[in-house]
Amino acid sequence: MKAPTFKYLRAESMDDVYAAFAEYGDEAVILAGGQSLMPMLNMRLAQPAVLVDINPIYELSGIVLSNQKLHVGAMTRHVEVANAELVAETLPLIGCAIKQVAHRGIRNRGTFGGSLAHADPAAEMPACAVALDATLILQSHGGARRVKATDFFLGVMSTDRRSDEILTSIELPTQGSNHAWAFHELSRRHGDFALVGVAATAQRRSEGLDGLRLVVFGCEARPRISEVVASRTLVPQDVAEFAAAVVKDLDPMSDLEGDAEIKLIQAHALVERSLNDLLAAQPYD
Ligand SMILES: Cc1cc2nc3c(=O)[nH]c(=O)nc-3n(C[C@H](O)[C@H](O)[C@H](O)COP(=O)(O)OP(=O)(O)OC[C@H]3O[C@@H](n4cnc5c(N)ncnc54)[C@H](O)[C@@H]3O)c2cc1C
Repeated sequence: MKAPTFKYLRAESMDDVYAAFAEYGDEAVILAGGQSLMPMLNMRLAQPAVLVDINPIYELSGIVLSNQKLHVGAMTRHVEVANAELVAETLPLIGCAIKQVAHRGIRNRGTFGGSLAHADPAAEMPACAVALDATLILQSHGGARRVKATDFFLGVMSTDRRSDEILTSIELPTQGSNHAWAFHELSRRHGDFALVGVAATAQRRSEGLDGLRLVVFGCEARPRISEVVASRTLVPQDVAEFAAAVVKDLDPMSDLEGDAEIKLIQAHALVERSLNDLLAAQPYD
């Protein structure tokens, strides 16, 4: 199929974006890397009247370290995130997970912000953003709004972003040597969306792991921190019990990739594997 007819606006500045929102309201849709939006247009799953191309706005791209936070511009391409030493050094969870996002050609165009704004429940970056307690910066003509990733994702391709807001950047608290991380996903082929995945971080303590933030994705309608593990210290003897409790807390949805029951079995294996990884990174004394 071919895309429906739409008007194309090339935004050279943020003012151009706000002007498009003011003139066209809900009918104006941001075009970032186009790697999800264009297929959706071609399949007629989206039929916006106006595409607002933000590719010319260079200030929306880039990765900067400041005040122990990594500030990633929304238009930063997946390939830039994957190649950035800053990311590998300060947020190895993202450095690992980004390599699982699609294929090279798609990573060359697709953007970090686009992936979050699109909010596919099987996508890797939204899960990492939640696990890492990221904050999203949304700008409208009226000013900026900061939203925690934990509050941003509402459901399948549904977020807290208002139609007059553009996602401009993402703030991620950096992690040091006292942090452990784990990432696992099951997919049919490398580069496919996850059937089920897990992104997790924790702080290393001599007696175990504290501050566990574990997200199962591709399973529920949105990535969220497991409430079971968030408030407890994890020691090796607890892994089986923890994994079972995490899976019991899930509310999986059946989709084209598998039914809910199978997702639970897959999630159980990945949660257990992730917890063991986190503990393996733990220096016991
Ligand atoms: C074959 C294929 C395989 C893929 N596999 C994976 C995969 O394994 N994992 C994965 O995570 N992704 C995968 N993707 C999707 C890819 O990662 C996209 O790059 C990403 O989902 C969207 O980023 P984009 O920059 O292309 O956004 P676009 O396609 O341009 O936009 C997507 C949506 O987000 C909105 N949007 C984008 N940027 C902003 C912004 N700054 N502010 C407000 N709204 C915005 C758009 O309006 C649109 O609704 C795949 C895509 C394809 C085609």
